Amino acid sequence: MEVQNKITALRAELHEHNHRYYIEDAPIISDYEFDQKLRELQDLEALHPQYADPNSPTQRVGGGITKSFDTVAHRYPMYSLSNTYSKEELQQWEERLRKTLGDDAKISYSCELKFDGASISLTYENGNLIQALTRGDGLQGDAITTNIKTIKTIPLKLQGDYPPFFEIRGEIILPWEGFYKMNELREAQGEPLYSNPRNTASGSLKLQDSSLVAERPLACFLYALAGDQLPIDSQFEALEKAREWGFKVPDSAQLLHSIDAVFDFISEWESKRKELPYEIDGIVIKVNNLAQQQELGFTAKAPRWAMAYKYPAEQVFTRLEGVHYQLGRTGAVTPVAQLQPVLISGTIVKRASLHNADQIEKLGLRIGDTVFVEKGGEIIPKITGIKEDARGLVEDTVEFIKYCPECGSLLVREAGEAQHYCKNESACPTQQIGKIQHFISRKAMDIEGLGGETVSLLFNEGLLSNVADLYRLEKSKILPLDRMAEKSVNNLLEGIEKSKEKPFSKVLFGLGIRFVGETVAKRLTKEFGSMEALKNASFEALIATEEIGDRIAQSLVDYFLEPKNQEVLSALSAFGLQMEELTSQGKKHPNFDGKKFVVSGVFKDFSREAIKEEIEHLGGTLVGSVSSRVDYIVAGEGMGPAKAAKAEALNIPILTEQDFINLREKRF
Ligand code: AMP
Ligand code: ZN
Repeated sequence: MEVQNKITALRAELHEHNHRYYIEDAPIISDYEFDQKLRELQDLEALHPQYADPNSPTQRVGGGITKSFDTVAHRYPMYSLSNTYSKEELQQWEERLRKTLGDDAKISYSCELKFDGASISLTYENGNLIQALTRGDGLQGDAITTNIKTIKTIPLKLQGDYPPFFEIRGEIILPWEGFYKMNELREAQGEPLYSNPRNTASGSLKLQDSSLVAERPLACFLYALAGDQLPIDSQFEALEKAREWGFKVPDSAQLLHSIDAVFDFISEWESKRKELPYEIDGIVIKVNNLAQQQELGFTAKAPRWAMAYKYPAEQVFTRLEGVHYQLGRTGAVTPVAQLQPVLISGTIVKRASLHNADQIEKLGLRIGDTVFVEKGGEIIPKITGIKEDARGLVEDTVEFIKYCPECGSLLVREAGEAQHYCKNESACPTQQIGKIQHFISRKAMDIEGLGGETVSLLFNEGLLSNVADLYRLEKSKILPLDRMAEKSVNNLLEGIEKSKEKPFSKVLFGLGIRFVGETVAKRLTKEFGSMEALKNASFEALIATEEIGDRIAQSLVDYFLEPKNQEVLSALSAFGLQMEELTSQGKKHPNFDGKKFVVSGVFKDFSREAIKEEIEHLGGTLVGSVSSRVDYIVAGEGMGPAKAAKAEALNIPILTEQDFINLREKRF
C-alpha cells in the first residue's frame, strides 16, 4: 500500500511540474531534480508493474511501437475551414452572417492565429487522455495516442473542473528553433533536409517508434472543444476553460466586437507573425456565441460561422545572376538560382531552388531576367515566374550543364527521371566523400569519434578514397594532421574497430547503393541473408522479393557488376565486417548456440513468445525453471521474486530486454 501511495504521489507531483514547465513557463524545480524524481518513478513502476498507468509521466519518454495505426471514426466530424485571401470577401461573409442572425444582432468574433501544423483531436475521460486521432478525411482519422503522449505540452491528466468526457482539437506544430536543429543534424549526417515545419510535424506523428517522436521538439496548441453539454456559451470561454484545465492555449487570441476590429487584428499580425517562434499561415475568425454558431450551422465541408483569412505568400522580384549546379552524395545534380540579394519575410535571400532541368525549361530562364521569388512555408524560396517586361537576352538562355561540375564526366538523365546524374560514382570526389559520410552516419555504421568533416579532411589528405580505407587508417598517419589530438585519434580508431560488430543490414545500408534505404536494406537482409547471396541473386530473383521493384533490383545488379565495388566488398569482408545476417535461417549464433535460457515476465517491445522463438531460432534451448544448468535469464517486468532470488544465488546473469538485443546483435 505504501508503495502505491508513493507512486501516486510522485505521479501527481511530476504532472504538476510538467505543467509548470511546459504550459506556464515557470518551473519551480531544476531539470536535474525533475529527472531524479522521474527516474525514481520509473524504478518503482518497473518493480511494481501491477500499478501501471497508461498516463504516468513516465510515458513521456516513449518506447511503445505502433506497427500500424488503427483507423477510428470521429465522434464529432473534424471540418475544414472556408478561407479567403481578401478582405472584401471577409466583408461579404459578415453580410451573410447578418442575413441569418439579423441586421441588429450583436456579433463578436474570437480571432485566433492559424497555426500551421497537423490537426488532432484528443479525447479525455475523467481528466485522463484516452485517445488521440489525426484529422484524416474529417470523418475518420488514425489513432496516434502512444506518439501523442510523448508531446510534453499535451497534458496526460487535467486539473480543475473539467467535464467528465469531451474532445479537444488543436494543432501539433514544430517551432522554428526545433525545426532548424533537426535540419542541422540532418545536414551533419548528409541526409536531405526537411522542407518545412508543417510536413515534418505531421510526418513525426506517424513514426512507428514513439521514442523517436519524444526526441522531436513538437508542441501542441489547442483551439476548440467538442462534446455534449459543455460548460461554455462561447468560443472564447472555451479557450479560457481549456487553459484552466491545463492545456496550452496561446494568449494571442482576442475577443473583438466588430468586423473593423477584426481587420485591425489581421493587419497587426501581418507583420508581427514574422517574429513568432513558429509558423502561422493566417488568422481564424470565429463567431463567438455558440447559440449563434448553431443558428449558422455548417456547409458540407466547413462551419458557416468561421473563416480563415490567409496571408499571401510573400513575393518579391529580383535579378537572376546565374545558375549553380550542386552535386549530391548520390550523384544527383540540382540547379540553384543565384539571385541579387533581396529581403523576403525578414530574411535576405540569395538563392532559390530550381529542382531540375524541366523546371528551368518551363520557366524559360535567361540570365539577367527579373524573376518573382516566393517564400512559402518552405525554407528554400522558389522562382514562380518571370517579369515579362524585364527580360534577359536570348543568348543568355540557361542551358543545363552537360558535364559534372566536380569531375567533368558526362551527365546522364535516364528515361522517366527528372534529375541529371553523374555516373562516375567511384571517382567523383563529392560522391566519394558523400559515400563515406553516409557509411559512418548514425543510421548506418554509426562510427563514434568520426564526423563528416574529418572524413573530408582524411579524403583530401589522400588517406581515404572509399569506405574500405577506413579500416586501413593508421594512427601515425592521422596524428600529424591539423587538429588531431592523440585522444581523438584513439577514439576514432576505436569507433572504426567497433563498427565491425554492426549487423549486416547496417553494412548493406551503409554502402549507399542507390535506392537501397534503411527499409529496403532490412528487407533484403531478411530475404537473402548475406552479401554473397545478394551478389549472386539475379534480377528476376530480386524483383520476386516483396517491396523490391525494377529500379532497386537494377541498381543492385549494377552495383555488384562494378569491379571497384567488388574490390571494396572483398576488402570489407577481409577486415571482418558482418557480411551475413547472424539471425538468418539455419545460422547458429555463438552467443546462443547450445545455451540454456529461462524467459520470464512481461516485455515492452516483444511478446514473450517472440523472444522464445528468437532464442530457439538462434540455437538456444528453453528451460522452464531456474537451475545451475541455466546460462541466462531473460527478464521482463514482473518476474517472480523467488526466481530472481534463486538466479542471484546461482550467479546466473539476468538480461533485460535491451541486454537480450545486445546479445543478439553482437558477437562478444
Ligand atoms: P485548412 O487546412 O487551410 O483547410 O485550414 C483548416 C485547418 O486550420 C484546421 O483543420 C486546423 O487544423 C487549422 N487551424 C489552425 N489554427 C486554427 C484555429 N485557431 N482554429 C481552427 N483551426 C485552426
Ligand atoms: Zn562527377
